[in-house]
Amino acid sequence: MSPADLPAADRAAEPVVPLLRVRGLQKSFGTNRVLESVDLTVGRGRVLALIGPSGSGKTTILRCLNGLELPDGGTIEVAAASPVDRPGAGRTPGRGATSVPVTLDFAAKTTPKQLAALRDRSAMVFQHYNLFPHKTVLQNVIEGPVVVQRRPVAEATAEAFALLERVGLTDKRDSYPFELSGGQQQRVGIVRALALRPQLLLFDEPTSALDPELVGDVLRLIKELADEGWSMVIVTHELEFAREVAHEIAFVDGGTIVEHGDPKQLLRNPQQQRTRQFLHRLL
Ligand code: ADP
Repeated sequence: MSPADLPAADRAAEPVVPLLRVRGLQKSFGTNRVLESVDLTVGRGRVLALIGPSGSGKTTILRCLNGLELPDGGTIEVAAASPVDRPGAGRTPGRGATSVPVTLDFAAKTTPKQLAALRDRSAMVFQHYNLFPHKTVLQNVIEGPVVVQRRPVAEATAEAFALLERVGLTDKRDSYPFELSGGQQQRVGIVRALALRPQLLLFDEPTSALDPELVGDVLRLIKELADEGWSMVIVTHELEFAREVAHEIAFVDGGTIVEHGDPKQLLRNPQQQRTRQFLHRLL
């Protein structure tokens, strides 16, 4: 039985095999110290939800995890790649398929090779989709694989077709983003991330820009991917969704993880006053 077959309550108790291990991560923008010191572990096949007030540093954490921002201090250990990191994708090597673990120490000097190992490991799904407006759906999906990863157009196109079919958007492949609903655009955003063959999916408030009636489709797709065994970090305000999908929730405030643990326990019985205050305002 694969972990995805276990009921949610049991999944939280699975042993954690780290994919990324983050210790003491720090980041300032000018004099604004945004990340004080962040420790977290992204487990293989596990879903970590980051919750917390606006401005607490959640997006910055995600961006540091895939090297879109360069931290000022701390370490990120990237595990050696494994075929299980890309559920349903067979044994095709994914991006960043380094066979040895890599440790990035941001207080010291990181090499371009180390940064590439981190960047190649994950793909981001953005709050505002960030699709290229002047490119069709298909062109959006194959851009990264063809231009950045230099994969053959025919191969990238075939993979894009299969992914678009999976999310029910085959008939939209020649449409432009403005011709799609927000929910459809975000499903293209997810397909575009999957097309990069990542081993970790990062979601930055994937449904917060959507009209309420379009949220369900996108959350269902993310849940399907989680059930398949994808490793994920999700920044979200959807607490019900986090409770259902995540193996672990981390509450972020003031640039640190104030509390983390089992979703049901953390939401029902938070241990820290700051977590209680935050949840009290939302629930
Ligand atoms: P959250 O995702 O929890 O809302 P963010 O990580 O987006 O928080 O932002 C945390 C803080 O970092 C905010 O004060 C924000 O203004 C600041 N910040 C984020 N990105 C930048 C940037 N590129 N330049 C300057 N300040 C930034």
